[in-house]
Amino acid sequence: MDREGAKGGGPARRAGRTRRAVLLGGLGVVAAAAVAGREEIGRAWWLLPGVAKPRKEGELDHAGAGWTAASPANWRRADRPDDYRVDRIVVHVTQGGFASSVDAFKNPWHKASAHYIVRQDGHVEQMVRELDVAFHAGNRSMNERSVGIEHVGFVDRPQDFTDAMYAASARLAADVCRRYGIPADRTHLVGHSEVPGADHTDPGPHWDWDRYVRMVGEELKAAG
Ligand SMILES: [Zn+2]
Repeated sequence: MDREGAKGGGPARRAGRTRRAVLLGGLGVVAAAAVAGREEIGRAWWLLPGVAKPRKEGELDHAGAGWTAASPANWRRADRPDDYRVDRIVVHVTQGGFASSVDAFKNPWHKASAHYIVRQDGHVEQMVRELDVAFHAGNRSMNERSVGIEHVGFVDRPQDFTDAMYAASARLAADVCRRYGIPADRTHLVGHSEVPGADHTDPGPHWDWDRYVRMVGEELKAAG
């Protein structure tokens, strides 16, 4: 920015004036940055080459989660929430067991993944970092703006959705809501089947939305 301003000023005869012009230019940038929303600043940052958050293999976003890396073919590297605002959580049901779901996300030919898989015993496995875009919603813009949470089970088996699963998922969702300032309501907590263009039916009629949204709200309140 400073270099641009100096160049724009061109060779001035009076050094004092040039310096003042550069200074004023600098102040202008500061003022513009102060006025611009956080999102715009984030996008500007993202456009600069070499600016990415440091990341370590196996680093987690949710305390207590396990980690298995999904194949990089099943997600896209990003720098959220600086490049994309995160304001949705998409609820899924795996239609398969835990091990086969983990294997699917590790398989580069699967072409899909989610950030988290929640098991019936309350275990949470993270497979994609929240700063990256997981391919879970079948909708590019929804993928970019959301965190995907899979729940192990089948849409037509209500017994798969255990108390421990609801509790763990609500804790996880509240954690995500808190970190990105997402309200815990049905506008921001959505099912895969509600994503525009979705051809999936999960989480299905047995997923208790009233209970889930209430629990996420309670977790948020409990955490202050
Ligand atoms: Zn789904």
